[in-house]
Amino acid sequence: MTATTKTAHEPETKRTFEVPKHPEWPILTEDEKEALKDRIKRLLKKENAVLVAHYYTDGDLQDLAEETGGCVADSLEMARFGSVQNAPTLVVAGVRFMGETAKILSPEKRILMPDLNATCSLDEGCPPDQFSAFCDAHPDRTVVVYANTSAAVKARADWMVTSSIALPIVTHLKDKGEKILWAPDKHLGHYIQSVTGADMLMWEGSCVVHEEFKSVALERVRKLHPDAAVLVHPESPAAVIDQADVVGSTTALIKAVTHMANKEFIVATDEGIFHKMNLLAPDKVLIEAPTAGHGATCESCGHCPWMAMNALQTLAATLETGANEVHIDPAIRERAVIPIQRMLDFAKRQAKLSKAS
Ligand code: SF4
Repeated sequence: MTATTKTAHEPETKRTFEVPKHPEWPILTEDEKEALKDRIKRLLKKENAVLVAHYYTDGDLQDLAEETGGCVADSLEMARFGSVQNAPTLVVAGVRFMGETAKILSPEKRILMPDLNATCSLDEGCPPDQFSAFCDAHPDRTVVVYANTSAAVKARADWMVTSSIALPIVTHLKDKGEKILWAPDKHLGHYIQSVTGADMLMWEGSCVVHEEFKSVALERVRKLHPDAAVLVHPESPAAVIDQADVVGSTTALIKAVTHMANKEFIVATDEGIFHKMNLLAPDKVLIEAPTAGHGATCESCGHCPWMAMNALQTLAATLETGANEVHIDPAIRERAVIPIQRMLDFAKRQAKLSKAS
């Protein structure tokens, strides 16, 4: 076998988990919404809590996070921001691995989430026992896992990466002559392998949202909008990535919309990102990259069903009751912090280098 992409973990990873239907939240009047937001603001103050939200969550939650001194960000920045807060409570609006990462980095803090059932197909598709066996079978490889994994999977890893830092870290490991065991997103893994040429053995996981973007339909949309730039998150299939003008993390895609001269953008990632893009670049036209369509399956609507579990109602209830606290076995936490901290230290060194240059 040539030293490039290899896929050894064949899908007995056939889906072993249920993808939930999108929750249907009651429609609030503007007054009701404002009242709920005010209640949440008071509760955040009372609990001395900071709200950290992901770009894929509901726009109202993103606004609340920023209005109350928290942040809205990608998973790398969420981890970094949460770890340097003095507040004793962090409320993480996102999916479970984000809450777990916050707890791993700040074990002394209380970490709350609007809904602990909000998980991720990548996390669910990489059960720790099977992953551990995969690692045991390849002891010569450096284990690199994506942030979208459980604490127990991170505890088996040498490095954790997010989509915004995966390329430089894998390049760094390749330059050191290391062979990589990559998990769990096969699309992101294949993209990174194609750019870096690293020797990567892949786990066969995927994101149920990004996997739905359709390459043939995208070609048709590009023909209708020949001047539009195509922005693609690397969790998408290769045939979609191949058509991109920009491939990158949520932060990179938001930057592209604000910095590029194009007026139109076709965007292949969760539609939650449009909220921030519209705020920062209101004069740009954003077009959703095509999926099989809202009517096809629940997964093909371009919005993550687990991210959709985060709502003003669940956020208020969590702050009121203190329910949905994230707990992690201390023995797992002790090991899982190593790959995360390694990534954060690498990011810090990179930031220093780019400032100096
Ligand atoms: S959008 Fe995909 S990768 Fe992100 S949380 Fe949802 S299932 Fe996971």
